[in-house]
Amino acid sequence: MSNLPDEAFRDTIGTIDEEGNRKFIFPKKPSGKFYDYRKWVSYFLLIVLVANPFIKINGNQFMMFNILERRFNIFGFPFWPQDFYIFVLFMIVGVVFVILFTVIFGRIFCGWICPQTIFLEMVFRRIEYWIEGDRGAQIRLDKQKWDAEKIRKKGIKWVIFLIISFFIANVFLAYLISSDKLLLMIEDGPRDHISTLISLLIFTGIFYFIFAWFREQVCIIACPYGRLQGVLLDDKSINVAYDFVRGEKETGRAKFNKQEDRALTGKGDCIDCKQCVNVCPTGIDIRNGTQMECVNCTACIDECDAIMDNVGLSRGLIRYASEDEIEKNIKFKFTARMKGYSAVLFILVGILLGLLFLRTDVEATILRLPGQLFQHKGDNISNIYTFKIINKTSNDFNDISFKLVGIKGTLNVVGKKNLQVPKQGMSGGTLFIEINQNLLDSDKTKLKIEVYNGDKKIETSTTSFLGPRSFD
Ligand code: SF4
Ligand code: SF4
Repeated sequence: MSNLPDEAFRDTIGTIDEEGNRKFIFPKKPSGKFYDYRKWVSYFLLIVLVANPFIKINGNQFMMFNILERRFNIFGFPFWPQDFYIFVLFMIVGVVFVILFTVIFGRIFCGWICPQTIFLEMVFRRIEYWIEGDRGAQIRLDKQKWDAEKIRKKGIKWVIFLIISFFIANVFLAYLISSDKLLLMIEDGPRDHISTLISLLIFTGIFYFIFAWFREQVCIIACPYGRLQGVLLDDKSINVAYDFVRGEKETGRAKFNKQEDRALTGKGDCIDCKQCVNVCPTGIDIRNGTQMECVNCTACIDECDAIMDNVGLSRGLIRYASEDEIEKNIKFKFTARMKGYSAVLFILVGILLGLLFLRTDVEATILRLPGQLFQHKGDNISNIYTFKIINKTSNDFNDISFKLVGIKGTLNVVGKKNLQVPKQGMSGGTLFIEINQNLLDSDKTKLKIEVYNGDKKIETSTTSFLGPRSFD
């Protein structure tokens, strides 16, 4: 039988006191195997995150989310509003992937990949340890009156936090408006781009607020993914978990006594040192079981392993394991739910790849001007059209022309001698098509029009050509 305490801990949040005030957490500095691995993963991801907007593929920014201009680049593929269905599918694939991942591996994403955790634990918190010291020193400093030492340490920390927040805001802006525009604005100076500077300062303020003050509250009360855990996780999901069977045994956890043989007394392997609680950045006690606040950061695994080494017990009292593995000794199995999610994911990825493959770099739309009928011009019939050409490539189109296919006729673009479409841009206008009445086979003839840049065909479009009803 388990000696776990009752579920009362689920009624409160460890970071809010009974009056509803924020209780600040001063987690112990983590160290150990998993922390070292996480450091390397976070270095890699930080480099990727910062470098992404500055990497170009075929002249396209690798990742860009220009919401204002409704232009998105994902893995170097430019997406226009016309490609929005692919973008939506991409998002759906991402969500299914995260769900599948969560069903199997719990909140591994939060601990290892989430930018919030990476910035907080691997950047801001480490600067804090460097300036203010470990948990004990931080608690002391917090209680200390505002003397020279506290002002100096807090002041330096906050200035560094502000500089890093400003840097993150710049990177964020490079994702939003493109790195080219950002660099141009930096070259021009802030005076010419006051509105961008104000946005930048607002973002800086938000990041500063999150990383200097709000911190783990993002994961505990704000993050929608965190809220989903209750529905996604089950007894088979792998999580950072306390092995309560081993930790509590027959008589429960108890302080360590060198003279005592715990196997004989029936005491559990947990020596109740509370180091796993002290190191936890969300202020929870993992020994209470899987909790929504746990971001699977692995700090408690490292801490408990170090304690187990010290007292001569085997590691893994806290480890990656499922409830079933701990309670029933059932090893990990690929369940029907996991198979279902994988199948859906597989199909969606297939569709996404197909759409990406079939997607064209140029889009030409030629539509009859609404409300306009055809006109007689001698033996010819004339129709007026509007056209729009979208150039998703990184090359300018400087000499656009149109060619009727399969039927003799003339096509004249109104007013433009040398039609151009800039790279990543759009151009449009009006054109007339004239066809001899005798060549029309119905009152609504289907036309095929090829679009050329110089001698190179870049797109084929279709439209309809109205004529007299005498063809019925
Ligand atoms: S660190 Fe390990 S031994 Fe110490 S209280 Fe936590 S689970 Fe028990
Ligand atoms: S319980 Fe352990 S894994 Fe979960 S957040 Fe706390 S330290 Fe990290």
